[in-house]
Amino acid sequence: MTETTEAAVREALATVRDPESGRDIVSLGMVQGLKVRDGLVAFALEVPRDRAERMEPIRRAAEKAAAGVPGVLNATAVLTAHRPAAQPARPAPTAGAQAAAGARGAQLLTNCRAIVAVASGKGGVGKSTTAANLAIALAQNGLRVGLLDADIYGPSMPRMLGIRGRPHAAGQMLAPMEKWGLKVMSIGFLVEEETPMIWRGPMVMGALEQMMGQVLWGELDIMVVDMPPGTGDAQLTMAQRVPLTGAVIVSTPQDVALIDARRGMAMFARTNVPVLGLIENMSFFRCPNCGHRSDIFGHGGARREAERLGAEFLGEIPIALDIRTTSDEGTPIAATMPDSAEAGLYRAIAARVWEKCGAVLARRAEAAPRIVVE
Ligand code: ADP
Repeated sequence: MTETTEAAVREALATVRDPESGRDIVSLGMVQGLKVRDGLVAFALEVPRDRAERMEPIRRAAEKAAAGVPGVLNATAVLTAHRPAAQPARPAPTAGAQAAAGARGAQLLTNCRAIVAVASGKGGVGKSTTAANLAIALAQNGLRVGLLDADIYGPSMPRMLGIRGRPHAAGQMLAPMEKWGLKVMSIGFLVEEETPMIWRGPMVMGALEQMMGQVLWGELDIMVVDMPPGTGDAQLTMAQRVPLTGAVIVSTPQDVALIDARRGMAMFARTNVPVLGLIENMSFFRCPNCGHRSDIFGHGGARREAERLGAEFLGEIPIALDIRTTSDEGTPIAATMPDSAEAGLYRAIAARVWEKCGAVLARRAEAAPRIVVE
């Protein structure tokens, strides 16, 4: 789609008027994050919080106006409101999510004893693979584990865990999917795989809020959050919004990835989220035939970097064909090859992560009276 189409959508939206001020929603600055791609239009309508309830007709009118533009196949508008952080607005990116919408003011993830973000400074370092296998290893260690795929632009958990189908709606809430001993939620369960992830900013946050606030997670010992890669706004907001117990940074040994990992760590430091440690992924290669170990990328960078930054080095995971094939086939190695050396590594790291969570939680409990800033 060309810029002309985006302009045409804007023009169409400018015909929608806000009855209270009599002005159009474009000149009022309500239209945010407009994205037009492959005939799909998505945008947010930012509205004052006290008016959010009454804005639904305008949202629908705006959607209809955008959908009427030639070349547009589908248009999605969500309402976002200026609001205190703990009160999700009611975005409606999908039919499934719509069913879940409506729970107001719910505190997010209050039934989790610990929440751990698995993050990386950039994509492709194996963050999701690590998050999935760690979550499974935590469950194997006897914990009640949730896995939240917050990598909203490129959700990989449905494929990585081999989960098909859609979550069931239970009233206003969604039941999480369950597999490998985990409760799992991903935006990938709610949208078609081919649907481009064209949501941005407020919409991403809205979808994330739904996945945290409107899912029947039940009581969990630990929630593993597969964070979006990078250190942009979405990541920062996420780090601020969710009461994270700590973060685990995944990096490959290459310098470039380490620089990105450093940025990741700085982001968590800024938001006062303890970095539980660094994992070096694709650290070394052990020849499956002769057992010879090659340090393809000059392994050890993450360990040195962790030491330099005063963070713990949690361990190294080799680059292994079995890790790649199992994660790409939806049969994660920690679950399907529990006797492998790699599964053992994930279990050891998982045990250490849980131990460190315990230490953080104990410190926080001691630091009473607890001030909740939200
Ligand atoms: P990210 O979440 O950082 O974008 P993924 O977890 O999706 O990365 O991994 C990217 C690719 O690398 C996937 O094909 C995955 O199977 C593969 N991969 C991840 N970790 C390893 C590993 N230790 N050994 C071999 N392949 C791996």
